[in-house]
Amino acid sequence: MKVLVPVKRVLDYNVKPRVKADGTGVDLANVKMSMNPFDEIAIEEAVRLKEKGAATEVVVVTIGVAKAETDVLLTARAMGADRGILIQTDDEIEPLAVAKLLAKVAEEEQPGLIILGKQAIDDDSNQTGQMLAALLGWPQGTFASKVELGGNGMQVTREVDGGLETVDLKLPAIVTTDLRLNEPRYATLPNIMKAKSKPVAKKTVADYGVDTAPRLKTLKVVEPAKRTAGIKVGSVDELVEKLKGLGVAK
Ligand code: AMP
Repeated sequence: MKVLVPVKRVLDYNVKPRVKADGTGVDLANVKMSMNPFDEIAIEEAVRLKEKGAATEVVVVTIGVAKAETDVLLTARAMGADRGILIQTDDEIEPLAVAKLLAKVAEEEQPGLIILGKQAIDDDSNQTGQMLAALLGWPQGTFASKVELGGNGMQVTREVDGGLETVDLKLPAIVTTDLRLNEPRYATLPNIMKAKSKPVAKKTVADYGVDTAPRLKTLKVVEPAKRTAGIKVGSVDELVEKLKGLGVAK
């Protein structure tokens, strides 16, 4: 079984985002960009399936700027993916268009399983996996904290509001990863060096004939409001009095 893993290049999670002075977006010039953390979990799960003998090949695909090849496809291959696909574009591609492009890749590659992150930490959309499942007509197990292959398909334990839910999916299927699914391995320097010889196919959006025109317009991006300075109270009684004054306590 082939496993396809879509990965996104995003602002590194350790970097504090800075809003551009004109309020049109987040400033991405000269800042560290890395693989979306949930996608590292997706790669890890795919590589573990291969190590167990359940998967035969792990293919990683990214839609983004040319630098995504070194920033994310190299890391993914160093973690154990066999080959990469870069669909190069300088445009911002919204989740529906990403899902349409991934559906085309799935038609070409015929994977038995697609593992995505549950959300990209830059847009927090949490849409692509669900829309891809709908476009392909495949079953989906989103927010997975455990996956097990067995019978004709796979069992996915999902993190839902009230606790955990286990669903049984027929393959081919879509899984999206939650934080507790696994702890991804590091891409070590020797593995990064070795990964350079694993192939990457370079494509463009035009190769897939998909309409990627944006449906959304960003009106304004602003920094979160700054917290005002707090005060220190001398005793619990004083705290209760102050809370009463605010209408928080009776
Ligand atoms: P989102 O729906 O934007 O929150 O993203 C959910 C998941 O879809 C990500 O964790 C990735 O697995 C995948 N994805 C989103 N955007 C891209 C992209 N540009 N290239 C490849 N995969 C993507």
